[in-house]
Amino acid sequence: MTTLVLVLGDQLSPDISSLKGQDPADTIVLMAEIAEETRYVRHHRRKLAYVLAAMRHHGVALAQAGWRVDYVELEAEGNSGSFTGEVMRAVERHAPDRIVVTEAGEWRVAAMLDSWETLTGLPVEIRRDTRFLASHKAFARWIDGRADPRMEWFYREMRRHTGLLMEGGKPVGGKWNFDKENRKPPPKRMAIPRPPAFPPDDTTKAILDLVERRFGDHFGSIDDFGFAVTREQAEAARDWFLDNALPRFGDYEDAMITGEPVLWHAHLSPYINSGLIDPLDLCRRVEARWQEGKVPLNAAEGFIRQIIGWREYVRGIYWWTGPDYVKRNFFGNRRKLPAWYWTGETDMHCLSEAIGQTLELAYAHHIQRLMVTGNFALIMGADPAHVHQWYLEVYADAYEWVELPNTLGMSQFGDGGLLGSKPYASSGAYINRMSDYCRHCRYDVSKRTGADACPFNALYWDFLVRNRDKLGDNRRLAMPYRNWDRIAAPEQQAIRDRAAELLEGLEAQASNY
Ligand code: FAD
Ligand code: SF4
Repeated sequence: MTTLVLVLGDQLSPDISSLKGQDPADTIVLMAEIAEETRYVRHHRRKLAYVLAAMRHHGVALAQAGWRVDYVELEAEGNSGSFTGEVMRAVERHAPDRIVVTEAGEWRVAAMLDSWETLTGLPVEIRRDTRFLASHKAFARWIDGRADPRMEWFYREMRRHTGLLMEGGKPVGGKWNFDKENRKPPPKRMAIPRPPAFPPDDTTKAILDLVERRFGDHFGSIDDFGFAVTREQAEAARDWFLDNALPRFGDYEDAMITGEPVLWHAHLSPYINSGLIDPLDLCRRVEARWQEGKVPLNAAEGFIRQIIGWREYVRGIYWWTGPDYVKRNFFGNRRKLPAWYWTGETDMHCLSEAIGQTLELAYAHHIQRLMVTGNFALIMGADPAHVHQWYLEVYADAYEWVELPNTLGMSQFGDGGLLGSKPYASSGAYINRMSDYCRHCRYDVSKRTGADACPFNALYWDFLVRNRDKLGDNRRLAMPYRNWDRIAAPEQQAIRDRAAELLEGLEAQASNY
């Protein structure tokens, strides 16, 4: 009996569930570079280069491990450009008796997998993706009917389930969460680690040429490409992080510094999301560093929470809410993002830094995504669907299951508070506290009105006032609303006038995209 196993571009793990228990002698592993997947949004060119190079290297690694791999390159003759087309062609080539695949990462691709049984007339087995702790069913069981379905409660379940940082059924250190120790402003004088870069080999060079040739109209640069593209390289990047950045990950998790794109973050999300790094194994290594006394508990706990807490939780939300989640727009926002989101050409230094490094590296860390680009989009009233498209396009780690809940839910409050208990909206004061950006900016972060006043300030107040009917009852916003009410009426008017002027300017700069 011949089995056709399809391995998708974000399933680059030798332990992927579709390969479990298969006999290499009667299994064909199909991997295909799909034009439709490269184009459904205009992905950052560095992301395309990474995914295609990692796929090609993984195809070779599987063949070296003894699998019969049928690898279809993007420009191979006859490549139909769609998953379904490539499965149909492979069925013709190999006449398999059945098809096996690990479940897709997003609704769009899941719908394709569901159609294959009818189209091919073969049994199609869709297996659970065991790289995640919680299956779709387990997450639904956890959340259905729950009055307070916050990430924190889910995270505690995952800690109990994995035993990570647990002792006798209790969290080590006596607390579940050490975030109070994790909000330090950027240090003034401290050597900042720089993650390793991996020079492209011939396979990767061929991909870089292909991306240059075919995707010239896409966002971003591929200059000095240095992503890990093999399992060995990704593991070297992981070990470098564990040794050099993890010890201070917690302390400076929210900090931002001009010209320093990564700081003490892991820069591992592209590798985790595409399968080169196993998330649970990574967490166990982090725990081991803490046990060995090499990493403080606030760093180990904070990091593990991002993976078994946030990462698992947003995936759960994505599948639990269904394919219509993308249409949610709690505030009814309709503005398009300004065209400079695609160029970084703005005189707001925080935004030009976050977007500039995104163009260059397809990377920005969480606080830049949430409190700079996301915050600005929210307070200017950008359409969450438009913002979602931007985030999906510009980051190397962007896959809809993880990007959409983070963008539409956490950052834009488009779901009205399912994912977060209040919108992540702030004035320039937050950015000033957590970064050195304002010191390098032409705007004055302490001012709310006037041509040189930080635009975040007037837009923040205007956002709160515009949406008072929707947010006025939110207890976590009681203080900001009280503060607004204390501002004298003429000053309130001046702030709203300044916001109106800024919004008019943004309207004029709206992207056509
Ligand atoms: P670190 O800060 O070092 O964190 C370690 C790991 O934890 C990450 O590699 C990642 O796997 C995981 N993680 C941390 N925060 C989250 C989170 N909120 N959700 C899921 N996993 C998390 N992450 C993506 O992987 N893909 C996306 O497309 C994506 N889009 C985002 C969009 C917005 C608007 C926001 C606010 C966040 C988004 N995130 C996304 C989450 C987070 O910003 C990135 O995972 C993180 O910046 C990746 O960089 P890092 O590896 O240096 O992470
Ligand atoms: Fe950003 Fe305002 Fe600070 Fe300038 S002053 S960097 S616009 S927060």
